[in-house]
Amino acid sequence: MSKPNSNPNPADKKNTLSNISRRIMFFFMLILLCVGLSGLLVPQHSKEEVPLSDVIARANDPEGNIKKITVTGQNLEITLKNNDQPTQTSRKDGSGTLYEQGLINYCADLTGEEYTKCQEKYPTIEYQEATDFWGMIFDVAILVVPIVILFIFFSNIMNQVSSANRESLGFGKAKARLYGEDQKKVKFEDVAGNEAAKQDLTEIVDFLKNPDRYEKLGAKIPRGVLLAGAPGTGKTLMARAVAGEANVPFFSISGSEFAEMFVGVGASRVRDLFQKAKKNAPSIIFIDEIDAVAHKRDARGGAGREDEQTLNQILVEMDGFDNESGVIVMAATNRVDMLDKALLRPGRFDRHINVTLPERKDRLEILKVHFKNKPIEDDVDLEAIAKKTAGSSGADLSNIANEAAITAARESHKKITNADLTEAFERIAIGPERKSKVMNDLEKKITAYHEAGHAIVGHVLPDSDPVHKVTIIPRGQTGGVTWFLPPEDRSYKNVFELKDVLARAMGGRVAEKIIFGKDAITTGASSDLKHVAELSKEMITEEGMGAKTRNLVFPEQDSGYYTITTGKPYSEKTAELIDEEVKALTDEAAKRAEAVLKANKTILDRLAAALLEQETLEEKDLPDLLKGTTLPVEAKLH
Ligand code: ADP
Ligand code: MG
Ligand code: ZN
Repeated sequence: MSKPNSNPNPADKKNTLSNISRRIMFFFMLILLCVGLSGLLVPQHSKEEVPLSDVIARANDPEGNIKKITVTGQNLEITLKNNDQPTQTSRKDGSGTLYEQGLINYCADLTGEEYTKCQEKYPTIEYQEATDFWGMIFDVAILVVPIVILFIFFSNIMNQVSSANRESLGFGKAKARLYGEDQKKVKFEDVAGNEAAKQDLTEIVDFLKNPDRYEKLGAKIPRGVLLAGAPGTGKTLMARAVAGEANVPFFSISGSEFAEMFVGVGASRVRDLFQKAKKNAPSIIFIDEIDAVAHKRDARGGAGREDEQTLNQILVEMDGFDNESGVIVMAATNRVDMLDKALLRPGRFDRHINVTLPERKDRLEILKVHFKNKPIEDDVDLEAIAKKTAGSSGADLSNIANEAAITAARESHKKITNADLTEAFERIAIGPERKSKVMNDLEKKITAYHEAGHAIVGHVLPDSDPVHKVTIIPRGQTGGVTWFLPPEDRSYKNVFELKDVLARAMGGRVAEKIIFGKDAITTGASSDLKHVAELSKEMITEEGMGAKTRNLVFPEQDSGYYTITTGKPYSEKTAELIDEEVKALTDEAAKRAEAVLKANKTILDRLAAALLEQETLEEKDLPDLLKGTTLPVEAKLH
């Protein structure tokens, strides 16, 4: 309780308010307790009432079905022979005992074994104390507790809520955490790569620390900073680093938390969050995964009304900042395109920091960060992993590091070896090796030709990435794997490169067909075919790479007239054209793969044989095996 004070200051008032909420919590718990006790104390309701005469008749019958009769005052509880719990009830009338009311005590005069045998046929009679102490307590409690609760609840509401608002009940309190005490401090040095983003954030920290310097020059301090980027690129990590570096209060909340409570609470949480931040200015508010509340209000399905209120409150609060408030709002999202445009307007989240997937040298830095505190052997080649992980996020890399440590522990290594690391990488990239899965000889042969087909088509076609590794050891869902590695990271791919990707993906199935005949279609190519289908569709609908639809794209998400009639933003006819174009790409890919493999049949045999023999072929084994391949004219594109 707050100390007596004739003129309570806001801090004291806050104290009383949180006391109320604590008291309310206490009574809710009491109710829960009562409900729990009732399960133990109150007799089950669903018991059948039977007349006393029936009970007596069955109890006197040696073939009767009653096991036990429990007598509590006038009440009888009857347990049947096939049961452990009483399932019937009855009542005695008058004060007489059961015997006076007709029950015969057949076993009374027997002793020893005879008595036991007799007892088995007739019910046991058990007497219980008539007054059930806990039952009485419960009866009282069930009457009194709600009255007490209601009384306290309302008297407090009367006293306090009229002057305070809904937050006083404690539900609306943002669960915003003041950052730093409970978790390890993150510094910018823990965030590898992403120099540009770190630079921008350093500047923000500086704004907060030395506002004068900027204001003197007439610069406006940014209000909203939006971190945007793919999942796992370190947005949350960077925000935590800002908290660690800035040395100002840092309130963080995740968009998904807004959604978890009662209607109307999201908005009041936002209000509370901003109030706290202003009181503690200069300070930072961080709303992680803001897309959870701030998705486009007009997007398909629409934002729920609840989210809309929360979003509106965020907008209202941000607009309400004056320049001197000294609060910077940071937010992070995986999907800028999904955000409501209103959030991105000037004065709101007008500063965007793009957090990108790491490039090769950044991947190496990230790996170094995550291996910093792990013991590693000298042979561990982080650079090789950095090279192989184009397109991976920081989270993926941290995952690989962790998996490598787990692998090393499983193998009882004192330090992490390069083999552990490679295993970890492949496990994460494709799934664990399935050593237990035994392939029969034919399956193994089919797999060998399948993978050799991928490898040869990829090797022969001029715009494909080089082959890195081929294996017929099953991993995850696949029977075998052929890896291609880009020599460096590239952001763009041209149409020839993509067509070579399609052809080499078809190479597996085509090789099977050439060797085992047209009818020997196996299920081993389903993921290849899925990949082909997805990529060729993307080339047509998103990249404008169709022969007849060159430079035309067909985005699905736009709404418009055709969306209503066909479910797609284009006409039936266009849909057919798209299907045709996709099929043309797939057919071309299969033809090119077939041409390559027929022209290089002897090498296909050689590679498949080597795979059957060694199971895994590394980059260094491949040049010899692939020597002498030729590119047939039918497979040439340019
Ligand atoms: P996001 O919020 O963008 O989805 P996180 O910040 O949650 O990603 O990143 C997940 C984890 O990945 C981090 O905790 C960290 O271990 C690792 N990570 C991501 N990016 C980096 C990076 N640039 N440097 C070091 N570790 C990183
Ligand atoms: Mg995150
Ligand atoms: Zn395949």
